[in-house]
Amino acid sequence: MQEGGRLMRYPRTHWCGELRKKDAGNKVNLAGWVQRKRDHGGLIFIDLRDRTGIIQLVSDQEKHASLFQQVDKLRNEYVISVTGEVSPRSEDTVNPQIGTGEIEILIDDLEVLSISETPPFYLEDQVRVDENLRLRYRYLDLRRPEMFHKMWTRHKAVKLVRDFLDREGFLEIETPMLTRSTPEGARDYLVPSRHNPGGFYALPQSPQLFKQLLMVSGIDRYFQLARCFRDEDLRADRQPEFTQIDLEMSFVDQDGVCSVIEGMLVYVWENLLGEKLKMPFPRMSYQEAMNRYGSDKPDLRIPLEIKDISHLAGESQFKVFQKALEKGGVIKGMRLPGGASLTRREIDELTERSREWGAQGLAWMVLSENGWKSPITKFFDQELLNKIKEELNAENGDLLVFVADSWQVACEVLGQVRLHVVDRLEIELQEGSFFTWIVDFPLLEFNPEEQRYDPKHNPFTSPVEEDIPLLKEEPEAARSKHYDLVLNGVEIAGGSIRIHQRELQEEIFSLLRISPGEARQKFGFLLEAFEYGPPPHGGIAFGLDRLIMILTGDKSIREVIPFPKTASATCLMTGAPSEVDQAQLHELKIKIEEDKS
Ligand code: ASP
Repeated sequence: MQEGGRLMRYPRTHWCGELRKKDAGNKVNLAGWVQRKRDHGGLIFIDLRDRTGIIQLVSDQEKHASLFQQVDKLRNEYVISVTGEVSPRSEDTVNPQIGTGEIEILIDDLEVLSISETPPFYLEDQVRVDENLRLRYRYLDLRRPEMFHKMWTRHKAVKLVRDFLDREGFLEIETPMLTRSTPEGARDYLVPSRHNPGGFYALPQSPQLFKQLLMVSGIDRYFQLARCFRDEDLRADRQPEFTQIDLEMSFVDQDGVCSVIEGMLVYVWENLLGEKLKMPFPRMSYQEAMNRYGSDKPDLRIPLEIKDISHLAGESQFKVFQKALEKGGVIKGMRLPGGASLTRREIDELTERSREWGAQGLAWMVLSENGWKSPITKFFDQELLNKIKEELNAENGDLLVFVADSWQVACEVLGQVRLHVVDRLEIELQEGSFFTWIVDFPLLEFNPEEQRYDPKHNPFTSPVEEDIPLLKEEPEAARSKHYDLVLNGVEIAGGSIRIHQRELQEEIFSLLRISPGEARQKFGFLLEAFEYGPPPHGGIAFGLDRLIMILTGDKSIREVIPFPKTASATCLMTGAPSEVDQAQLHELKIKIEEDKS
């Protein structure tokens, strides 16, 4: 963290955190903030902080009475510049907690550069205050070395990404912020146009269309650290504006895009964490991810797997199972090791949650030393129970849970159960970074309310070639050339090979019920560009905030975004969004409706 280059003399000679015992005897000039003052009678100790850490300053009344008086007046967060000699601490006062703990600075000159109000919270690492207070005073929060380290990691990671992509022949190109709606499917942030009253720009949800246009332009390899804006309901891990490492390449297939991303991550991991990631990353089809883990972003650290037991369950007398199979559904089961320790009430709660996740219910069996305990085992003969036990690798002390439903619901609900029980059952996670590509997604999803298909990714994603004929007969069976990169249960990147053939694009639009007129109105400029020799191309976007969060080991992206927003999309520091002057609205010809709710 020490790479400050040449320090601007103020008259600083060193960063606070970089001095060591070897510097003893040297005269140094330091500048920073007073972290804390401790008065020990005739001795005052000051912890001086800059972005690199803390060093202890000492002032001795006997040696320098007037200076001592000056030091005595210092308060927390005053900004000072000091000159002094580096001196080793006596054995008994060494502080092994901090890098500079073996030394201190005997002050012989001091200048107060600015004074400070008492900060609203104590600025130290592992600060324990309400996050809203930290966000309200983010500039103070960022003063803490821990936060500086996060910003530093972000800067370094971005630099490594830029260096790597530059070496691979990518050009960093900016695309407009004031633009038209893009097809990512979230709500747009709109910006009114004064020059065109009634006209609105949309802030980009991603640079999707522009990056495809850049391929038509022959740029061949584009990237951008792109700010994206999506007006969504915010979950813990979402922000209304966030940054993507966005890239697009011409004349590539899926392997080409994936290997660039893998190379980039290997480079970042090695240079930032000193860890060697193994290439190529494993790939798993969407089908397999759903079948085994009940999720298209499986957390492979959790050692639990879902199994299909339809063939066995069908032999039972249990009506619920039989009916599900008759309707073309499946029976899926999973063993929860140690689950026999759940109380009846906890099992009922899990069943209730399963209903919220979309199941009709959750069937269960406890396997204990005294045999089976379950409301449904009476519908199964002993031989069948043994087969189920074997199929699920069950052991005494386990709880077996089952969902009988459509394939999708059965997978998804057990996928949720899988995540849900980890803490309660103290299931040990496997160590490591499990990067996995999820591929072969379905191209389309049927939307029963609208009686049409929706794209699983975006309307420009190409189907797998051999599945193109399926678009006519069985569209939902067609797989797409969409790929997601998942790390430990979190989707960190997603992209696709795009459609570049006009007829195919038209066929997809018609499945999505996008009329030629609507297509022209929404994406006309892209379709027109595609009349002029578009190369085959594909790309991906990588969530930078999540990547940094993983690198710093944080649990929330707000920790690694310098000035994040709250869950209700407000900025507690600036007060945005705020009302504006009537005059501004008048110029834009906008009237605010009274809120009648
Ligand atoms: N634009 C897409 C997204 O933001 C990523 C891509 O397909 O490249 O999800």
